[in-house]
Amino acid sequence: MHLTAQAQTKAKPNILVVTSELYPFAKVGGLADVVSALCSALRSFGHDVRIVMPRYAGIDLKQYDARISLEPMGVWMGNVEEWCSVYRASGEGGVPVYLIEHQLYFNREGLYHDTAMHDYDDNPRRFGFLSRAALQLCKDIGFKPAIVHAHDWQTALVPAYLKLWHWNDRLLGSAASVLTIHNVAYQGVYPKSHLPYLGLGWHNFTSDKFESYDRINFLKSGINYADCITTVSPNYAREITTPFGGFGLAPFLSARGSCFKGIINGIDYSVWNPQTDPLIAARFSADSLDGKKACKRQLQELFDIRPDENIALIGMIGRFVAQKGFELIARTIERIVQNMMVQFVILGSGEHHFESYFGDLPRRYSGRVGSFIGFDNKRAHVIEAGCDFYLMPSLFEPCGLTQMYSQRYGTIPIVRATGGLDDTVEQYNETTGEGTGFKFRDPTEDALYYTIGWAISTWYDRPHHIRSMVQKAMKQDFSWQHRAHEYESMYYQAVTRKKKWDENHRSYYW
Ligand code: ADP
Repeated sequence: MHLTAQAQTKAKPNILVVTSELYPFAKVGGLADVVSALCSALRSFGHDVRIVMPRYAGIDLKQYDARISLEPMGVWMGNVEEWCSVYRASGEGGVPVYLIEHQLYFNREGLYHDTAMHDYDDNPRRFGFLSRAALQLCKDIGFKPAIVHAHDWQTALVPAYLKLWHWNDRLLGSAASVLTIHNVAYQGVYPKSHLPYLGLGWHNFTSDKFESYDRINFLKSGINYADCITTVSPNYAREITTPFGGFGLAPFLSARGSCFKGIINGIDYSVWNPQTDPLIAARFSADSLDGKKACKRQLQELFDIRPDENIALIGMIGRFVAQKGFELIARTIERIVQNMMVQFVILGSGEHHFESYFGDLPRRYSGRVGSFIGFDNKRAHVIEAGCDFYLMPSLFEPCGLTQMYSQRYGTIPIVRATGGLDDTVEQYNETTGEGTGFKFRDPTEDALYYTIGWAISTWYDRPHHIRSMVQKAMKQDFSWQHRAHEYESMYYQAVTRKKKWDENHRSYYW
């Protein structure tokens, strides 16, 4: 939908964004990067954007010059009043960020789970509280959002709270809600015993709202209550309306018709840009690639593998979960290392069996394989800049950011053609040398093995093709500008839908 001239000349609507992650404050995956970059772009268009997130233990208030904004703030849950403090800081692009401090809920290690990777049992309470607190905050600071944008299951109750609790508020009553699904596999499904605390009403505990197999499903609630829903790539939007890709929510997404749309993520060029990146050994661009050699050397030294610019180097970064294809890599990597002239660097953390397997590979393939188990932003930048290839054989991938970062840094992606990976990587054409990467479809060891073989042989035998692919990849437009405009269109659509919803429900309320 295109904005009408009238809509464009009107004052830009205020936007409240509620999220569980935000770069640089707290990051586990792509959600943090996406929310930060999108909000920064929206602010540059003239919207008054405010972000609300938890003040986790790992957030150093001094580092961000965070100042107390409200102390205390009372938040009514379904059966109890919670008390918290609110700090205000400044995010990327100067966007105001409100950090909700609640000792019991957020002053602990990890965002969603403990160090043993066990999800916290009180996650429904923690994130239900965050969602309620974000709306309460608007009332306490006098902020009137036209749109409230929630992200993923953690904040997916926000649309329900708006419609069930705040429909008659002066500040929140007219606010439309948008939910973005970054990964439909994570839905936030919890015992119904949490319902009284969450305050959503037993009469709403039905399968057309948020009940799912006698449990509460946060994401389902968002899908049913939000005025509009987005996900992070057009291909993934198609996939998750099929029984295989939707993890049980396909019919509910399909039922939302044109209110559901895939908008591809962009990348933040102020953070991921080889021309300005302070974390890499040398700066480079599509027109001047010399610095990339120094970055490859830096990477080989950092991961303690043989410093040799003439051997193809493949990198991987990611959460060690099955979704990312690490199982496939684990079953194939040794065959590749034994049969091909190639080096690997791996950065990740997550499931323990992957951590111990990939953590041990450098000992067994000394000089050929390097790995680092943990979360390390600098290493992530150095990998994107220093590798020749970036591997991402995900079983499914809503959008994926690292394959876009890699293209920006002239590192050719090797990906499985799924979700956003298929949308953002153009297949290599051996006849013309066109393309930006190598893609395969079958999630099998052989497909992975032979696709890597194809990429590596191209690197050694047809370097002129690799050079033109690097150029083309680096010149792709992954900027947030026009993506953020697509979100704006979705916001206007949500406002229109909300007005209709209000008209239809007025008789019910009065
Ligand atoms: P997802 O959101 O599913 O984790 P994305 O590709 O969308 O996957 O985003 C992952 C983001 O997290 C990227 O910015 C990537 O660099 C970062 N990341 C993932 N694992 C690590 C790690 N171990 N160390 C540093 N950064 C990481």
